[in-house]
Amino acid sequence: MSIRLEHIEYVYGQKTAYEKKALKDICLEIQTGEFVGVIGHTGSGKSTLIQHLNGLIRATGGSYYYEGKNVYEDGYDMKRLRTEVGLVFQYPEHQLFEADVLTDVCFGPKNQGLTEEECKDRALMALRSVGLKEKYYQRSPFDLSGGQKRRVAIAGVLAMQPKVLVLDEPTAGLDPRGREEILDQIRKLHRDRNLTVILVSHSMEDIAEYADRIVVMNQGEICYNDKPQEVFSHYRELEKIGLLAPQVTYVMGELKRRGLSVSPDVTTVEEA
Ligand code: ADP
Repeated sequence: MSIRLEHIEYVYGQKTAYEKKALKDICLEIQTGEFVGVIGHTGSGKSTLIQHLNGLIRATGGSYYYEGKNVYEDGYDMKRLRTEVGLVFQYPEHQLFEADVLTDVCFGPKNQGLTEEECKDRALMALRSVGLKEKYYQRSPFDLSGGQKRRVAIAGVLAMQPKVLVLDEPTAGLDPRGREEILDQIRKLHRDRNLTVILVSHSMEDIAEYADRIVVMNQGEICYNDKPQEVFSHYRELEKIGLLAPQVTYVMGELKRRGLSVSPDVTTVEEA
């Protein structure tokens, strides 16, 4: 077991006039090597949830166990958690700042106290694993396309050699081709390295295509947590919380592709 969240609650601005409960009673387990999609509309709590996973924010209630250890216990090695659970923020390319791509990707390992040679090896491996061609390594990150910049930013997190990769809307703002390329690369990393992947998206399309399991969030709570076909069988409810409206047809097609069919007037899934 990689991650276990027990009754996590998070309140922004606790005991102030701006108090806002962003997460309510979140219980979630993620096994090593899983590819989990987290979906929900804006404000449903996705970003708040994933920031707990590498200890960036601390729950105001509940417990978090990473590889069986209670993260909130005194003396817990937070630095290790930050290394093992790599978090790729939304628009991560905004955090690129070095003069060239290779130096930028070396930044994380350098902070871990590795030698220059080790940092370079790690960076090269990470850049290759996101499929960025070598001719770009000495260029300024600012001269790259949107999709290439994002690959560099993801490589920066991979260079830390995390066991869990958490990505917040990694395809935001990319064109359909850039989107597919990034997601294919993430899937490849997941398969080749048994990397646990948690992919946050508001796009049912992205999640349906790539995740083994889908966690649906609504108003700070998890309302579904199941295999894609099981979650889609609740398509009417998903439509009600604003996640499906234009995509019902797509979902039904997806179910068919997986050998399942969904009857339009009932919410059950049947063998096709
Ligand atoms: P999502 O990632 O699904 O869009 P968020 O986790 O960003 O959702 O937000 C969940 C809720 O918490 C929203 O109501 C949002 O307005 C609120 N929220 C997020 N960040 C802050 C913050 N820094 N201060 C106060 N409220 C916040």
